[in-house]
Amino acid sequence: MDQIQFLALGGGREIGANSFFLRLGSHGLLIDAGLHPEKKGWEAFPRAELLDPFAVDSFIVTHAHSDHIGGIPFLLQSQPQARVIATPETIEIARVMLRNSATLLPKQHPLEIMDKLPFYTEAKIDELITNIEPRRFGKPFQLSETSKPITATLYMSGHILGAGGILIEYDGKRIFHTGDTSLHPQTLIAGAELPEGPVDVLITESTNGRDDAYLSHSRETELERLLTVVNDTLTGGGSVLIPVFALGKMQEALMMMTDAMRDKKIPTVDIYTGGMARLISQIYDKTAHSQSRLRNDELLGDIKQEDIPRRDGLFSGKFFKTPSIVLASSGMMQEGTSSYLLAQRWLRQKTFAICFIGYTDPRTPGYIVSHAEPGSRIKFGSMKRDVPVRCKIERFRFSAHARREELLEIARRLKPKHIVLTHGDTEAMNTFSEALRIECPQARISAPEVGKWYRLLSE
Ligand SMILES: [Zn+2]
Repeated sequence: MDQIQFLALGGGREIGANSFFLRLGSHGLLIDAGLHPEKKGWEAFPRAELLDPFAVDSFIVTHAHSDHIGGIPFLLQSQPQARVIATPETIEIARVMLRNSATLLPKQHPLEIMDKLPFYTEAKIDELITNIEPRRFGKPFQLSETSKPITATLYMSGHILGAGGILIEYDGKRIFHTGDTSLHPQTLIAGAELPEGPVDVLITESTNGRDDAYLSHSRETELERLLTVVNDTLTGGGSVLIPVFALGKMQEALMMMTDAMRDKKIPTVDIYTGGMARLISQIYDKTAHSQSRLRNDELLGDIKQEDIPRRDGLFSGKFFKTPSIVLASSGMMQEGTSSYLLAQRWLRQKTFAICFIGYTDPRTPGYIVSHAEPGSRIKFGSMKRDVPVRCKIERFRFSAHARREELLEIARRLKPKHIVLTHGDTEAMNTFSEALRIECPQARISAPEVGKWYRLLSE
């Protein structure tokens, strides 16, 4: 049997610049090329220098979150020959996301780094996007047609619009990479579909692998808890700020709030949305009949939305006078974003509330605000003075990732001989491997380090 080797260029033992390379005989397959959301400088990029130039024959992109696609232009600088493949939905979203990266990167990185990133221009990104080959879920395609063909099939992985897992069949072996996945359906996105088992190798994400009851909260109870806070705040005369990612969380939150207003669970008030999130909602609408989408006949564009004012107008927004719901990016309140700026005034308002509905990295302002004690004073980002915490702050868990029990179920159903853990922090991976050992006693388990080659199925 030809060797199958695995190398993490990023996203090994952490959630970051996710990028994985598989060598299948003489064929090089790259999966994703992300940017780390928090790291600065070259540390934020996948380790492209670990690959020989021209080592990548095919390059499959699982979905359009920037920790999976932000490094594509960078990776293609040294691998220009690679044939890039993604679902049509991912291609559409990637265009918006990468154009946004191109405008943000110069603000986050010094000139000496930007000088070495010639592909982050609008024209070049458009060219890269135009060259991506669209492939639909469930339709096998060939990566290599030599004497030992390599076949790939994308499987809808839930998570966000267009997201997929990849089944690779080569030399009588089956390798399944989950991508970012969720078996449970969300408000707008259907749950994942898996290939028939068994597979030989399962490369699985482990974001929620930690042994933590909080991560197992059901969506129904979380939604009820969220709507109680939103309702109490609006009826008490205050406004609610929900920091969201422009891709995925915003569309989910908009639909949740609209459903709740229609069902009279919260008062009907103005909903504010803005910028890039709107562009992505348009793609959700344009591809409303995608297999990823639930409620295919309901368009986000039909929901009445007010514009979040631009920077200068933010502090005089009408939401400070009239009870409203503001869905502002970013989800982690990254410096300079609308949610970051709004928080500084929101925190001082006694009758207001800030509701976090997703994960916040401990290094971000969102983490500091979401963990602030009422009555305390906090400082975040590059703020000069601290602000008093007078508003209500609540955290909710609406994960777009599989819960721990779902991750175990994937392993149970696919019965792999070798499990490779990715996309999780060390703690999540350690506790999750213990659970996997009980669930799949037959399987070898690896948690690859970035930069180290692993031979799959060799023992
Ligand atoms: Zn993702």
